[in-house]
Amino acid sequence: MNSILEHVSLKPYNTFGIDAHARYLAEFSTPDELAALLSWGSRSAPKAEGRQGTDVWPVLVLGGGSNILFTRDVDGLVLRNRIEGIDLIDEDEDYVYVQVGAGESWHGFVEHCLARDWAGVENLSLIPGSVGAAPMQNIGAYGVEIKDVFQELQAWSYADGRIYTFSLNDCAFGYRESVFKRQYRGEFVILTVTFRLPKKPVLHTEYGAIREELERMGVREPGIRDVSKAVIAIRRGRLPDPAEIGNAGSFFKNPTVPDEQFEALQAEFPEIVGYRNTGTDTTKIAAGWMIEQCGLKGYRHGDAGVHARQALVLVNYGGATGREIYELSEEIVVSVRQKFGVDLEREVNVF
Ligand code: FAD
Ligand code: NAP
Repeated sequence: MNSILEHVSLKPYNTFGIDAHARYLAEFSTPDELAALLSWGSRSAPKAEGRQGTDVWPVLVLGGGSNILFTRDVDGLVLRNRIEGIDLIDEDEDYVYVQVGAGESWHGFVEHCLARDWAGVENLSLIPGSVGAAPMQNIGAYGVEIKDVFQELQAWSYADGRIYTFSLNDCAFGYRESVFKRQYRGEFVILTVTFRLPKKPVLHTEYGAIREELERMGVREPGIRDVSKAVIAIRRGRLPDPAEIGNAGSFFKNPTVPDEQFEALQAEFPEIVGYRNTGTDTTKIAAGWMIEQCGLKGYRHGDAGVHARQALVLVNYGGATGREIYELSEEIVVSVRQKFGVDLEREVNVF
């Protein structure tokens, strides 16, 4: 069986750089290795903990640790997913079907696609983390979500140790949501994800600053690699690099409210930034704008702070604990509620 380390700092394994500890840490590269580690965990855990009966340890599967906030130690087993492989498994006139191991890096996969002219993921360039975690919150950026290129995934069930296939419908993808983040939270380990990628690209350049960036680059007839370059340039300019300052991207989701509520807010705050959700009577409000209006952009409490350029991103200046970041997020929730009457929901997974 793969080696199991004991009492390990998780600081190198989460992009917030929180110094939480795992009781045990191990890696797996195949479903069999995963099964062996879980079986070891269930045999050893209660005894080692001095617990009796049916008590079990928490098991936490980690990819790149770029969407998690540790507010405490993990008194159990942390398993790093290292399942590899990017395989072209099928092809028709319009699409390629590509199966990817959950432990592959997301951006590595995007680069693999760009090099082969496989379209559909260029707007999702430079998102940190693993392919296996991408369906968890239906990762999205610049008007594209993985649901747009998703075919199916395979996931290992903790309940019976069997591998199940989930179709697009089964995953119930929503805005930064899926069944894996909601009703099946903690019940499955995603092993592989299969994507259906168009051979003829349909470019999405209307979102955010992509078009301006392409103009700045002097590109008149962009292809997927140009869009990717534009997205990378915008992201590098706006978002803090976790290698330099701890963060997990957007800490909160952009809240969706009924149009009526948005119009009432607009009457009071004419500058409010909102986007109609087409086909519904709801509007998405830019949470970063509301946080900024609360005077919290660039706010710092100890080593926990709100990023100075992007208020949706909370940062760890070095020595913050997960608890301190969480408390800061609570302060933000309260301020936004008081000023706008809107509840912010955390996007980051809090452990
Ligand atoms: P982790 O943080 O390792 O895990 C996240 C959650 O998924 C945890 O609950 C974990 O237990 C679970 N999990 C991980 N792997 C598996 C698995 N194989 N099976 C079951 N559960 C699993 N997100 C976006 O949507 N769009 C963006 O544009 C974006 N930009 C970002 C920019 C920065 C600078 C940062 C730091 C983050 C950004 N994120 C963005 C958030 C994050 O990168 C994504 O959510 C990413 O998919 C997380 O992947 P991960 O492997 O790091 O997940
Ligand atoms: P931005 O371009 O400054 O826009 C601010 C917000 O307005 C975004 O959150 C975006 O919502 C929304 N928006 C902008 N143009 C829109 C349009 N045409 N239609 C609908 N909504 C629009 O945002 P940013 O912070 O630089 O991020 C750019 C993209 O990368 C966004 O899609 C963002 O979600 C993504 N991103 C995500 C994370 C994360 O951790 N989840 C981190 C960094 C960046 P949406 O967020 O709903 O797209």
